[in-house]
Amino acid sequence: MDFIDPHIHMVSRTTDDYERLARSGCVAISEPAFWAGFDRGSAEAFRDYFRQLIDFECKRALLFGIQHFCWLCINAKEAENVKLSRDVIAMIPEFLDMPGVLGIGEIGLNKNTPNECTIFEEHVDLAASRDELMLIHTPHLEDKYMGTRMIIDMLRADSRVQPDRVLIDHVEEHTVKLALEAGYWCGMTLYPTTKCTPARAADIIEACGTDRIMVNSAGDWGVSDPTAVPKFIFEMRARGHSEDVIRKVVYENPRTFFGKSKRFDFRPRG
Ligand SMILES: [Zn+2]
Repeated sequence: MDFIDPHIHMVSRTTDDYERLARSGCVAISEPAFWAGFDRGSAEAFRDYFRQLIDFECKRALLFGIQHFCWLCINAKEAENVKLSRDVIAMIPEFLDMPGVLGIGEIGLNKNTPNECTIFEEHVDLAASRDELMLIHTPHLEDKYMGTRMIIDMLRADSRVQPDRVLIDHVEEHTVKLALEAGYWCGMTLYPTTKCTPARAADIIEACGTDRIMVNSAGDWGVSDPTAVPKFIFEMRARGHSEDVIRKVVYENPRTFFGKSKRFDFRPRG
């Protein structure tokens, strides 16, 4: 089955991973800007990173027949450096009209600190002022419920933000309804250790339905599985779900959400 991985960090993966993705049916991916595993030292380092996402990864993906899209921001883990964060936010508009850039992300919270909130709100202001889509990271484990509530409160405080132009990612059983019932799109991350397994994601689909929800691998430089989405497809098939239901989650939903950006020039396989 053709699928789209709506959240994967391919700068951290090898060409072998692109080949595995292509062989398993991946036709497009979206890559949010994220933390490199160390704090970058300057705004210029982000300029180079954005160029890598926009110019280089796109070409690397196309070698395997995969269309590559991306999102720009400074990650919440670096938001404690408010000066650097503001320098990066000021630079983002230079890149926002480039092909394949879908919007602002993955912004959000990590430890739910005041500086993270300040930088989150400034990213939201940039996105809202330009009517850009947003992709939002919610915190891990014990910080997730509180962080998700804080994020939704900050989004609601800006009357320009339309919930159907926002994807709230890494939802789990205890946060998915907060996001869906408020009208946002949702992403479930399939991780080998933390976050959702394919079985838990299938349980959530059975409980919440298939509207405005998608699954991703969030593959990065840590322990993660770039082919997690096909494992979810197998899990859903094993439970007897129809191909149409599965296809809606792994292909139609990301396509519909990304299609709200005028720079999503997706060409379906003919
Ligand atoms: Zn990520």
